Amino acid sequence: MSTDMRYSIVVPVFNEEAVLEQTYRRLKKVMDAIQEPYELVFVNDGSLDRSVEFIKGFCDHDKSVKLISFSRNFGHQIAITAGMDYAVGAAVVVIDADLQDPPELIIEMIAKWKEGYEVVYAKRSERKGETLFKKLTARLFYRILRTCTDIDIPVDTGDFRLLDRKVCDALQQLPEKNRYVRGLVSWVGFRQTAVEYSRDPRLAGETKYSLGKMIKLSLDGLTSFSFKPIKLANYSGLFFLVIGFVYLLFLIGFEAVDHSPISGWNLVLASQFILTGILLTMMGIMGEYIGRIYDEARHRPLYIVQECYRNEENERTVKKIGKGYKASTGIS
Ligand code: UDP
Ligand code: MG
Repeated sequence: MSTDMRYSIVVPVFNEEAVLEQTYRRLKKVMDAIQEPYELVFVNDGSLDRSVEFIKGFCDHDKSVKLISFSRNFGHQIAITAGMDYAVGAAVVVIDADLQDPPELIIEMIAKWKEGYEVVYAKRSERKGETLFKKLTARLFYRILRTCTDIDIPVDTGDFRLLDRKVCDALQQLPEKNRYVRGLVSWVGFRQTAVEYSRDPRLAGETKYSLGKMIKLSLDGLTSFSFKPIKLANYSGLFFLVIGFVYLLFLIGFEAVDHSPISGWNLVLASQFILTGILLTMMGIMGEYIGRIYDEARHRPLYIVQECYRNEENERTVKKIGKGYKASTGIS
């Protein structure tokens, strides 16, 4: 593939034979109108229907189509990661195969990209044709994730987005296996902006996101970007400890005033609180260590450099340190 490729459109596909023909046609129409070199990268995520046959058919008469086919179903997030890895465009757009994300919006995304934004994500102002359950759980999840994390993961956005080459390269530096791609995109930073759209109903076929897959995705999002759940043990432990000690103090106080002995069950209850508190706090402390082990085990780079700027004269003073560049002031 030539290196002057401008746009790569990544389309994850899992049993989408009912929509592929239309998706291909609509994407072609939009991309042809732009009149710049592009490629359509279809990632077949272990489809069991005739999806591959369809895509191979597109490839046969259209050089702009690429097919990457998995040996089995690895999941949507892995499929888009593979698509981004194989894409060679200067800008990469990830879009669902079911036309819930209107291809026409790509034109707006490209306009923003040309203004200098490196990430343009599509924000859903409305979701049509989805069950109330899906809408509610999605809404709730995005908000919980937002309160739990320190990085700014925009709410109500899916994976429909445009990424500059720099962002794709940065994402390849993140080797973690349980990927929540939209979170990782927020994590890498760069200039990000949104375009709004109303999400159409699926053109045909059923959702390929089972409840199980949805739960897995939410857990990936939450555990990849937040240690708050693990810290819950700590907070609840401290809460129980305080209650236990206050209870005990009251008992001792009553005994001093009343001169009646502390009843057995009162003592048992107070010590229950204290013991539970100690146990939970210890678990929380272990959690802190586990959190740090997890942090290290992910092997995320420490930082992502957006650009290195230097004046020719200073060139000698720029040292390569670790995985990034750091400009030093003295002559080295
Ligand atoms: N998909 C995939 N692998 C999966 C599940 C889904 O590649 O295991 C693709 C699917 O073909 C579609 C996109 O991911 O292009 C989004 O899936 P879907 O439309 O079923 O999700 P929903 O819009 O219902 O959340
Ligand atoms: Mg869909």
